Amino acid sequence: MKIEAIRAVASRTLAVVVAGAAANGVTRGVDDRLILASERDGDNWLSYNSGYHEQRYSPLAQINRENVATLGLAWSYDLAADRGVEATPVVVDGVMYVTAPWSVVHALDARSGHELWTYDPEVPRSYGAWACCDVVNRGVAVYKGKVFVGTLDGYLVALDAGTGKVLWRVDTNIDRTKYKHTITGAPRVYHDHVVIGHGGAELSAVGYVSAYNVDTGALQWRWFSVPSSAASSDSDPSQRLAARTWDPKGRWTQVGGGGTIWDAIAYDPDLNRLYVGVGNGLPWNQAARSPAAKDNLFVASIVALDADHGRYLWHFQVTPGDAWDYDAAQHLVQADVSIQGRARKVLMQANKNGYFLVLDRTDGKLISARNFVDVNWARGYDAHGRPIEVKGARAREKPWEIIPSPYGAHNWQPMSFNPNTGLVYIPAQGVPLAIADDPDYVPERNQPGRPMSNIGWNLGYFLNTISPKAKPFGRLIAWDPVAQKEIWHRDYAGPWNGGTMTTAGNLVFQGSADGRFMAYDASSGRTLWQTEVGSGVIAAPMTYRVDGEQYVSIAVGWGGVFGLAERITDRLSPGRIYTFKLGGRAPLPPVRNFGDFRRTTLISGVPYKVEDVGPGAQLYVANCLFCHGVPAVNRGGALPNLGYSDPQVIQALPELVRSGAFMAKGMPEFHDRLSDDDVQKIAAFILDMAKNAPRQ
Ligand code: CA
Repeated sequence: MKIEAIRAVASRTLAVVVAGAAANGVTRGVDDRLILASERDGDNWLSYNSGYHEQRYSPLAQINRENVATLGLAWSYDLAADRGVEATPVVVDGVMYVTAPWSVVHALDARSGHELWTYDPEVPRSYGAWACCDVVNRGVAVYKGKVFVGTLDGYLVALDAGTGKVLWRVDTNIDRTKYKHTITGAPRVYHDHVVIGHGGAELSAVGYVSAYNVDTGALQWRWFSVPSSAASSDSDPSQRLAARTWDPKGRWTQVGGGGTIWDAIAYDPDLNRLYVGVGNGLPWNQAARSPAAKDNLFVASIVALDADHGRYLWHFQVTPGDAWDYDAAQHLVQADVSIQGRARKVLMQANKNGYFLVLDRTDGKLISARNFVDVNWARGYDAHGRPIEVKGARAREKPWEIIPSPYGAHNWQPMSFNPNTGLVYIPAQGVPLAIADDPDYVPERNQPGRPMSNIGWNLGYFLNTISPKAKPFGRLIAWDPVAQKEIWHRDYAGPWNGGTMTTAGNLVFQGSADGRFMAYDASSGRTLWQTEVGSGVIAAPMTYRVDGEQYVSIAVGWGGVFGLAERITDRLSPGRIYTFKLGGRAPLPPVRNFGDFRRTTLISGVPYKVEDVGPGAQLYVANCLFCHGVPAVNRGGALPNLGYSDPQVIQALPELVRSGAFMAKGMPEFHDRLSDDDVQKIAAFILDMAKNAPRQ
């Protein structure tokens, strides 16, 4: 009997005895071999994207095409959260570990949903202002008796898997006075290393990925994705390679250059490498960031590192000199596929820029790239693996409706790959947006009219100075990565749908922004089963088997960068885990409708000064826009649209905003950012928008 099999049997026995007490004993058995073995076994889901190859494919087939219609609720669990839920649960022998907003960890009995313990890192709510894209968390890593979570305020924490007690906690931010680093992604583990990056490249950030010892939290190595004085170019020659591609007079020097590694981190057990997906350049506008140099390595790149020392091996820059927030941070899938009769070890990504990339992961060379949605910034990739840019797309002379927009043709919502169908299932989308060069942009300065500039954003662009013509959409695409073509697709009511998971039962599971959870036939795309889940879904599902029974789980909770200010359904329930099984008969939990707890009529009857409206609009854009949306234009998302405010609230707005009345909910501190007069002007703009909005 192989060692992993012995471990698996021993741990399963323990789990049956008592799930809670066994948790520590069980995860002690989780190591590199077990994570790899879980890809073939399927009982456990041992990492955010399942196993090391991150295919989000389960070999379980108990639930399949023939019987999936009888799927019913086994249990649900309330995450006590009212912000976006982006997590995929991890399951180890009957124990589920899942995260909620504000980086809270919940350990549950995976059979019943009974809580075993919770851990709240008590992230100071002021960090909500540092989070570009909601106070989300995508999940934990488990390894040798420990559970690892990265917190929104930039700490990496190791917990005892059995009790949730903190074993160690390290600060991953190299300079809190300079950089607004947050963690929303799931850590990865291998070789006694726990690896994490961070977000922040809309505000001020320098990209790097750090590996810590799982037992002590000691830093093992760190690799910087952009030139940084904190990196040693002697020990890291890639720093010299990068430095040549940046303009030393560019404004990146003031805000860090970006290139954050905020989601895609994948360990390759076949080649002992780590692949990271590097985020956008900062400021977004390259004309401000680095006017005289082209590529800005390694922003918007996929990079291979030596897994044990973090040394640079190769890179593929997906979007050279990124000017469109084209993070290459989307989920990286490793697979072995046959291309023109030759077995290839590939790395696949459905990039934010609209291209599906297939790389040879042995050397990082591009095998093929094809757009999976419409794009208007490039006409494909040339023979050297470089995109052929469309003139004008950088919006330097005049505004440009950029397609895909910075919301991405595909964002962090993970895709999945089914080796049986050979297809990749991509949660694709379009959110229209136009960019315009801001020649007067000043880094780190409150400039009314510049998006979120008073909250610390550094874009260097004006947004939507022309009206976008494209229509928003959300679409599940089944993509053949060898032929580089779409096989089938399903359209949704809007963008910002959940990630996907696929199984040997020939199924694809996905939740949608309009609050449903579906199972599709993986070959044809036919809907085989669906249920309502009380809120828009943005997270991706997973599956596991305990005591011989297969379950499917999805974490539900509307929010994230699009969901903060907009929504697709009137259902808006608190964050919740839904777990299904064949013949499950638990009743679906009660659902809240938007109108039950939030005003749905436009504010009116409050006097304001007409001359305040113009300046108020500029202040609104610099302080409120990305969280609260455009007043009265839609009815809000996870956060309220202020066009629907209570008259008493809008009258007291200066007092409420400047006293920090909403800080406990994650609203920024405005005492020093805005005067009473400023807030009065913002209120005038909101009231004027509500007054002139078409009545709904
Ligand atoms: Ca970004």
